[in-house]
Amino acid sequence: MTKVVTDVICPFCGTLCDDLEVSVSDDGKQIIDVYNACAIGAEKFLHSQSKDRVTRPRMQQADGTYKEVSYDEAVEYTAQMLAGAKKPLMYGWSSTSCEAQSMGYEVAENVGAILDNTATVCHGSSLMAIQDVGIPSCTLGEVKNRADTVIFWGCNPSHAHPRHMSRYSIFPRGMFMGKGQKSRKMIVVDPRNTDTAKMADVHLQLEQGRDYELLSALRVAIRGESLPDVVAGISREKILEAANMMKDARFGIIFFGMGVTQSIGKNHNIDMAIMLTKDMNEYTKFSIIAMRGHYNVTGSGAVMGWQFGFPFATDLSRGFARYNPGETTSNDLLRRDEVDAVFVIGSDPGAHFPISSVKKISRLPSVAVDPHITPTTDVCKLHVPVAFVGVEVGGCCYRMDNVPIESRKVVEPPEGMLTDTEFLTRVRDRVNQIKGA
Ligand code: SF4
Repeated sequence: MTKVVTDVICPFCGTLCDDLEVSVSDDGKQIIDVYNACAIGAEKFLHSQSKDRVTRPRMQQADGTYKEVSYDEAVEYTAQMLAGAKKPLMYGWSSTSCEAQSMGYEVAENVGAILDNTATVCHGSSLMAIQDVGIPSCTLGEVKNRADTVIFWGCNPSHAHPRHMSRYSIFPRGMFMGKGQKSRKMIVVDPRNTDTAKMADVHLQLEQGRDYELLSALRVAIRGESLPDVVAGISREKILEAANMMKDARFGIIFFGMGVTQSIGKNHNIDMAIMLTKDMNEYTKFSIIAMRGHYNVTGSGAVMGWQFGFPFATDLSRGFARYNPGETTSNDLLRRDEVDAVFVIGSDPGAHFPISSVKKISRLPSVAVDPHITPTTDVCKLHVPVAFVGVEVGGCCYRMDNVPIESRKVVEPPEGMLTDTEFLTRVRDRVNQIKGA
């Protein structure tokens, strides 16, 4: 016998689809199948059922092998490491719930850590730009119901957010978009001829790293001022065609990704994209949304914002919150040998940081909290497996448009396994004991 759990949230990407259905065994222990999810979303649920899954913490031995330890020992190692360090780095946070983030940030405050999340290598530049110039934004629901001109700049949702276009941005019929895709125009700005670009009405295939120039040119074109023959490899005619399409919109939206946040210009590109959006509002309604990757990276920044006033790269080592990207960002700290312990949760810097940073992590006292075995768990001294958020435990998550959504528990975790929040609560309590708080 099986039962079907409906309205399940997908805990994989920032689209945070909330229409999944999961059939589970009657005893609530096993996932049988996943409906409505894309391939990567479904795999997240099915992977949790892997027979090879690690269910107890593992401590790395001198010869590189692992020895199973109890959760009590894992809590003790983590608390002693964090309480004893002068400047620990607590990194990740984007693939866990807001409840776990909040508890972990409390630990960080108690031990004087540096708190950083995965925005440090993706949309940190967007967060800096938003602080500089604000952001005229909207929800994905408004996009679905109203947007007739959709721009994807430096992102490829066909692969990175596979249901984004079918649920919100291109295909669905909305309240004022009765013909779905036929009601919408699509512009893609990307140096590569991606699968998303192949669907576009206009593909601006600019030269790599010339986003700032093209954004400036669009601002010039929209004002009707003169343009050179070619900007960023794009002809004046093509720029004018895109500008006119934008001005003809009743409701336009720019979605932007790491192709523009991490190319030359970084946060200044996003300043310019936001200013283009602001300019467009003199003619019609236009909004802009960052295509966030991890399912709760947005929540990580929101929770850090409530607790300390900054969305990433927050240095608590002086007893108050400081924020200085470039100085207090993870890779800069690791490169300068400024941290003496590393705690990682809800992310995989072993796969995404430069190898020089990964080598530094491997030489330091380190803990990785992750349901999976990853390149990070393989270099850290202690690996703490935990229940999958959104599969085996619920919790609040923020969609890429800053809408908080409560994820659902679908099945029971393996017997005796802790959740992120439970593990961090025990670490918080032990740290307070060690520090006599
Ligand atoms: S698009 Fe993203 S949130 Fe939606 S099912 Fe796929 S991975 Fe999950």
